[in-house]
Amino acid sequence: MALAVETRLTLAEISAKIDEGTRIDVDEARWLWLNASAEELQQLAYKVRARFHAPGECTYMVMRIINYTNVCVAQCDYCAFYKLPGQAGGYVMSHDDVFAKIDELIALGGDLAAFNGGFNPALPLSYYCDLFAAIRARYGDSVEFYALTIAEFMYLADHAKISNAEAAQRLKAAGVRWITGGGSEILTEDFRSRHSKFKYTVTEYFEAQRAIVEAGLKTTATMVIGFDETLDERLEHLDRTRQFQDETGGLASFLCWTFKPYFTQIGGIEITTAEYLKHLALCRIFLDNIPRIRTSVLTQNQQALEGLKYGADDFDLPIEDEVTQKAGATISLDFERILSYARELGFEPTYRHVALAAAKA
Ligand code: SF4
Repeated sequence: MALAVETRLTLAEISAKIDEGTRIDVDEARWLWLNASAEELQQLAYKVRARFHAPGECTYMVMRIINYTNVCVAQCDYCAFYKLPGQAGGYVMSHDDVFAKIDELIALGGDLAAFNGGFNPALPLSYYCDLFAAIRARYGDSVEFYALTIAEFMYLADHAKISNAEAAQRLKAAGVRWITGGGSEILTEDFRSRHSKFKYTVTEYFEAQRAIVEAGLKTTATMVIGFDETLDERLEHLDRTRQFQDETGGLASFLCWTFKPYFTQIGGIEITTAEYLKHLALCRIFLDNIPRIRTSVLTQNQQALEGLKYGADDFDLPIEDEVTQKAGATISLDFERILSYARELGFEPTYRHVALAAAKA
């Protein structure tokens, strides 16, 4: 009984802090995760969401991830996508392959392509610069593209033996505007040494992201949960993300998705949607300096839209991502059904144009 009273008081105190606009610290976030119910987290997340978005408002995009190469030397043990150099099944897309994917995206109503491949030692910097310049020349501002994840960006700079700053400038000159925060998974050194020791350290990750921001490029924050990460590792990831945003203001959004274990070396079982939603709420409460919190239709399908009630305000309708599909993700192109579900939940989705020409149209 005494414990219950103490618990209620602590929740009331944290709730009061949120009402005042005061941020919670890591210990309070841990307490919330361990003690607050899903409904209580939902209510707190909704308060923080309301600082940035009107109730019932949400946005979405139709996009595709273009996996331009699956050849990779990083050998992350949670990845079902990669082939080692020389291994059967490895590929690299030509410009025409990429154009065909973008044309199909446009035909399906989308205007955002996101590039995500592997650490392919056969690809020089010129492959990337030529490809991105060709896309910009062909599509202008009618299509936008997220060029690479930060992990690939780091490999590209490393492989070309140039600094992050120079790599960012070279890509910018080729027409790149965005390099997303993908490849972060869980940003603790211990997690990376357990699962992806060839994928750069957390310190290096943020150094690269800072160079991207300083070059005037846009970037985002991401997170993946559902491996063997501990609660403290999740909280460290969120804390470092919030600190980076305090220091740079460069993160346009935060997206968390869930690990798909099928056909991966580490395997395991997926976490539940309930756990994902609870985590999403905690992200919204803790990341009080990132207005756009996104929920993952790619890994949670239609159920991801429940995340709008847990603090999210934005989602993708993806048409392809080989990386997560190889590990068990399934994609529906029935966009109307998904959008209808958002309306059933009380939200009116508005298309969010990232491409400049489409936004002006
Ligand atoms: S997750 Fe990315 S970096 Fe890691 S092995 Fe797969 S393709 Fe390579």
